[in-house]
Amino acid sequence: NELYQELSLKNKQYVWHPFTQMQDYINEEPLIISHGKDRKLFDVLGNEYYDGVSSIWLNVHGHNIKELNEAINEQLNKVAHSTLLGMANIPAILLAERLVNIAPDGLEKVFYSDSGATAVEIAIKMAYQYWRNIGKNEKNTFVTMKEAYHGDTIGAVSVGAIDLFHQAYSDLLFPSIKLSYPHLYRSKYEGTRKDVTKAYLNEVENLFIEKADSIAALIIEPIVQGASGIIVMPPGYLKGLDALCKKYEVLLIADEVATGFGRTGKMFACEQEGITPDILTCGKGLTGGYLPVSATLTTNTIYEAFLGTYEEQKTFFHGHSYTGNPLGCAVALANLDLFEKKQLINHVEEISSFIEESLRTFYDLQHVGDIRQSGVMIGIELVLCKETKEPFHWNDRVGVRVTKRAKELGLLTRPLGNVIVFMPPLASTKSELEEMLNILYKAISDCTEKQ
Ligand code: PLP
Repeated sequence: NELYQELSLKNKQYVWHPFTQMQDYINEEPLIISHGKDRKLFDVLGNEYYDGVSSIWLNVHGHNIKELNEAINEQLNKVAHSTLLGMANIPAILLAERLVNIAPDGLEKVFYSDSGATAVEIAIKMAYQYWRNIGKNEKNTFVTMKEAYHGDTIGAVSVGAIDLFHQAYSDLLFPSIKLSYPHLYRSKYEGTRKDVTKAYLNEVENLFIEKADSIAALIIEPIVQGASGIIVMPPGYLKGLDALCKKYEVLLIADEVATGFGRTGKMFACEQEGITPDILTCGKGLTGGYLPVSATLTTNTIYEAFLGTYEEQKTFFHGHSYTGNPLGCAVALANLDLFEKKQLINHVEEISSFIEESLRTFYDLQHVGDIRQSGVMIGIELVLCKETKEPFHWNDRVGVRVTKRAKELGLLTRPLGNVIVFMPPLASTKSELEEMLNILYKAISDCTEKQ
């Protein structure tokens, strides 16, 4: 196919891909997407694929969705962009009101930006400056979880803990204190689920007893730690964490960039445990996977600490050229309309139990060690030995092999090491999911079962 050859050459010549070792990439035949429809993506060679990862955990409804396309077109005929810097615009105002209405009770203010990483960067700066603004300058350290991923800007990497990036940029990062995310499959504590939860919470309390006076905030991916391998926290942990943060006056930042907008079965994962963080970040699904808009939501207590005269210098010094982009905010509003119209949260409840049931058969495969699921956020961990939980050696690249095979069979997924991530659009139907899961089963089987 001539078009493919030409695009492939130009792709190799001009495009530098994110998080990609280009030396390997240029030897591969790239997948070049030409269009999408609902849960499928089509490449320029005419092949079709189920989008089993919603681009990268973004597309709520799927691709090329009529209502979302129309919302952008309608706004496009009014104004494409005017920067939110004192001057407001209609979709940004209406979206902020809507977000406050659907967010956990008590989050009252919306600060826009354009990616998950910047939403986190803003949360960090807000938490830090909050304490300065109220005269507690000594509270300037951040607590984060081992293996956390909060984005790739310097601040977000500083509160993240994926070793690879940490090592690469270590001199540029500010130090943060790392705690262990409660991981039931590979827990360092023994006992019942309740005991283990308590043990992980004790780690937090012991740290707070010693150091809360110097801690500004604790940042966490609530309910599911995504990029580290879809680790689902045990019930009660988030509620316990929230109580400890309140008791020891540490701000709680819930990074809902991945979990927000229905992924775990509630609009926001914090709702699973009925908590309201001081700051909540969201992005990804906010625009239904259409345009780069993200948001950092705060309580009035945080917001009010930034009020003062010009001379007091309490202003929040942050903003981007595209902050509050009207096209993005308009499509986000249409996305939220569709949530209601299609009763998507109820639909997620239905499909997540369907997925859970279907996934049980995956345990028949000899290398499926653990299946972790919260709503439509699924990780399947492949292990060399089920009994000992010994992982596959990284060099074996089992995750990459399974993903390649799934692609050949018509399903796009993404590995996180030895964990296969399955995060299809929330609007996927049962029959679409059945097809996707059949492919996934076959791909894992083809790559790991003895023939
Ligand atoms: N926070 C979490 C929890 C994420 O999962 C991600 C991305 O995967 C980010 C932040 C960064 O978002 P973005 O890639 O939009 O910058």
